[in-house]
Amino acid sequence: MTVEYRVEVADAHAHQFRVTLTLSDPAPEQRLSLPVWIPGSYMVREFGRHLSALAARQGRRPCALRQLDKTTWVVACEGRTALTVSWLVYAFDTSVRCAFLDARRGFFNGTGLLLRAEGREHEPQGLTIAGLPRGWQVATAMTPVKVNAAGVGRYEAADYDELVDHPVELGTFWRGRFEAGGVPHEFVVAGALPGFDGERLLADARRICATQIGFWHGGSAKERAPFSRYVFLLNAVEEGYGGLEHRASTALIAARRDLPRRGMEAGGGLSDGYVTLLGLISHEYFHTWNVKRLKPAEFTTLDYTRENYTELLWFFEGFTSYYDDLLLLRAGLIDAPRYLRLVAKAASTVLATPGREVQSVAQASFDAWVKYYRSDENTPNATVSYYAKGSLVALALDLALRSRPRSRASLDDVMRALWARSGAAGGGGMGGGGITELDILAVVAELGGRALADELRGWVHGTADLPLERLLAGLGVRQADERVGFAVGLGLRLAEGALTGVQVKSVLAGTAAQRAGLSAGDELLAVDGWRIRRLDDALTWIDRRQPFELLVVRDQRVLTLRLDPAAGRGPAAIQLTPVAKPPAAALARRRAWLGH
Ligand SMILES: [Zn+2]
Repeated sequence: MTVEYRVEVADAHAHQFRVTLTLSDPAPEQRLSLPVWIPGSYMVREFGRHLSALAARQGRRPCALRQLDKTTWVVACEGRTALTVSWLVYAFDTSVRCAFLDARRGFFNGTGLLLRAEGREHEPQGLTIAGLPRGWQVATAMTPVKVNAAGVGRYEAADYDELVDHPVELGTFWRGRFEAGGVPHEFVVAGALPGFDGERLLADARRICATQIGFWHGGSAKERAPFSRYVFLLNAVEEGYGGLEHRASTALIAARRDLPRRGMEAGGGLSDGYVTLLGLISHEYFHTWNVKRLKPAEFTTLDYTRENYTELLWFFEGFTSYYDDLLLLRAGLIDAPRYLRLVAKAASTVLATPGREVQSVAQASFDAWVKYYRSDENTPNATVSYYAKGSLVALALDLALRSRPRSRASLDDVMRALWARSGAAGGGGMGGGGITELDILAVVAELGGRALADELRGWVHGTADLPLERLLAGLGVRQADERVGFAVGLGLRLAEGALTGVQVKSVLAGTAAQRAGLSAGDELLAVDGWRIRRLDDALTWIDRRQPFELLVVRDQRVLTLRLDPAAGRGPAAIQLTPVAKPPAAALARRRAWLGH
């Protein structure tokens, strides 16, 4: 091997990994650089800021190192003697995007740890994991070459892209296995409470995986899933939620209380928290096809040094968000009324976002680097989530396809046609699979007609609300208004607690709260002269439709503001229910869609 990395625990209490790179036949001016972002999470994170103690030598001769920019170094080499470079990485980020190390657990993505040997990215890359505390195991989807029973030892990747696309979990974790679609799957859980029901999690994850492999490849006997092994890495914490997709694995973070417990759910339904976790598992697994292989054309060659822009996250994140819960329904893990509650929640989230009238989902995709991933108090007024609205675009497109007379096409056919058309299916390699918006529109035109493709383009590039109520009615689902809470209706997003009091997080544009002059960061003290602990408490002494006086603290100054609920427009919310006896055609379509 000519590009060889070694990762060791340098000091767990100091949260430091030591990394050593050995490079045969280095260039005279060998450049080394650390990515500034991790694919799948569209934000420049400057991983180089956690790197220190960089040193280089050839044999016993120290080599001069020069830093070119925030993330690139050049090493002056002489002759062909192998170059050895070592450095430390501070790792204390609990998210799925960076790296973490303490005396209990380690985790890393190669993007945060492994300097790229420029010019050598396309050669095979070796990774040795060593120097771990006694009893620790290793879990990763990277190909093991020589490892012991705990997974400690040497792994190999075909190139740098692959090397950094396999996150690694270290520590003493729970691990279980199952098979789906003929593919071995491993599920690793760190940090679970005693009583965690691993068998239940395996059984439910297996149903999700089998359903998805069937979704993409069910129609063809000769097709197989495009990976030979898959690993779920789940870190259970007190508070947290998130996931990041990779080519043959995913790193997940979830609240411990949302994991299944032994003895739970005898007779009752699944908890909302567990359904959320199953939705996350389903979401990240769906990405194994949709974004890791079928991908924006812009992502066929990744640039690790800067932002990689695409207008298509509404498709790759939004459509994945549509299918994550829908496939829970198809896997038999939730029923149709519960599924419709999840859809109504996504639709209500979008309706509570004034930014939907400011930004299209195509613009939101392009701007993800500075908007969605850099959210602040103004985010709901300035941007729309390409996840939530993207999932509604998928829903609208699916319903429109299913509503066409004498057609049996659905969004499933669009996804599979794109998979076939993109070349992602061919050979199982990671190089192809790039598509553009024109590919999506062409497939929709083929399956649903030119007019529907034009309509889709309008949904994606426009800011009008989607015609969901009409489309849902055609499939026997009724949309009704859901009453929103008092604070929400005024346009306030609050953090309320006995200790913190009532703090304004965001003020929605065009609402009564904004017209009254409220701002993010304000502390709300009293309504009409009476102290409040929660804003809704005031409803016991005021009429929710009448103006009231609000005592507010901003930067230690006490202000009196008059808030007239009629002065602005509050966000709407909806609920969805299956119609009891819809017309026969609508019922047939609903059964094909929801099995209900
Ligand atoms: Zn996603």
